[in-house]
Amino acid sequence: MPKQPIAIALFSGGLDSILACRVVAAQGVKVKAIKFVTPFFDYDLLSTEEQYRKKIRDKYDIDVEVKDITDPYLRMLYDPPHGFGKHFNPCIDCKILMIREAKKLMTACHGSFLLTGEVIGQRPMSQRKDTLRIIERDSGTDSLLLRPLCAGSLKPTAAELSGLIDREKLPHFNGRGRSGQIKLAGEFGITDFPSPAGGCVLTDRNLAKRIRMHYNETTEINREDIRFLLVGRQFRLPHGGWLAIGRDEKENDAVMGIRQPGDLILRADDRPGPTALLRHCRNQEDVSLSAALVARYCKKNSGAPLQTMVTVTDDRAESLLSAAPVSEEQLAGLQIL
Ligand code: SF4
Repeated sequence: MPKQPIAIALFSGGLDSILACRVVAAQGVKVKAIKFVTPFFDYDLLSTEEQYRKKIRDKYDIDVEVKDITDPYLRMLYDPPHGFGKHFNPCIDCKILMIREAKKLMTACHGSFLLTGEVIGQRPMSQRKDTLRIIERDSGTDSLLLRPLCAGSLKPTAAELSGLIDREKLPHFNGRGRSGQIKLAGEFGITDFPSPAGGCVLTDRNLAKRIRMHYNETTEINREDIRFLLVGRQFRLPHGGWLAIGRDEKENDAVMGIRQPGDLILRADDRPGPTALLRHCRNQEDVSLSAALVARYCKKNSGAPLQTMVTVTDDRAESLLSAAPVSEEQLAGLQIL
């Protein structure tokens, strides 16, 4: 019996990527879907991969693997050859990077081709016809890359020319409308799928500014600092310390979740208040100022913020500081974006 051909799919989890996998699998190809993650998108899946794989298998009959591409992604962000979108989002180079990484996986598992759920005209920057061509050229994939949802509008790829895929049986989607996709999903028995998502956090105006600022000030980007920059209110302290203060319970948990050795955790001891994380702290004055910032965001009993007892926890011990809230003027000078 001839061996079943294998294709590697870029899997975002959106409807188009689900359908792209299913229409190719329907032609007898074994599809291995890859969900790439970085701190800018879907990073939490690294700690819940098994549940995620099960969910995608049960709901869509797709085998998916989660792959962390943070390191090459952070390097690429210094200078993406195709530039940025409206904010700090390098959409074209993001796609190119993912497809290059997928090609490595394809080679490793003796796959025959790659596929994505791109649809011509669906996204302004990365899914124009000329951009699709640039993406395949610069990712070095050329005819290896099948876009099964709009293949009829593109040059036949190797998978079609070799007969692995019958392009006549593929759908023919174009533009931003989704009615065709929803109808096709119904034919596969898929009725529960995610609504179209906006971009990743690099398309968020404020978060993109924070990340850009950090890129402009250092040549030593690391994932832990990037994850720090994406949480809560942010402050830069006079002696080099960075402070993140949670704005709600979810962010307080997130602050705890990104703690690294050497970081300090600050919490009000005598009233409800936020959780704060202090990083790159080299000076006790930054600790005192952080406590004063925590006091500023504690619940007020009557009008103005109050003198507060703040617990400071480092890698070894806890200590208690009494802190008066910072003034509004001081606050404005320390907060970033
Ligand atoms: S929005 Fe973010 S994840 Fe999506 S293509 Fe652009 S940079 Fe990549």
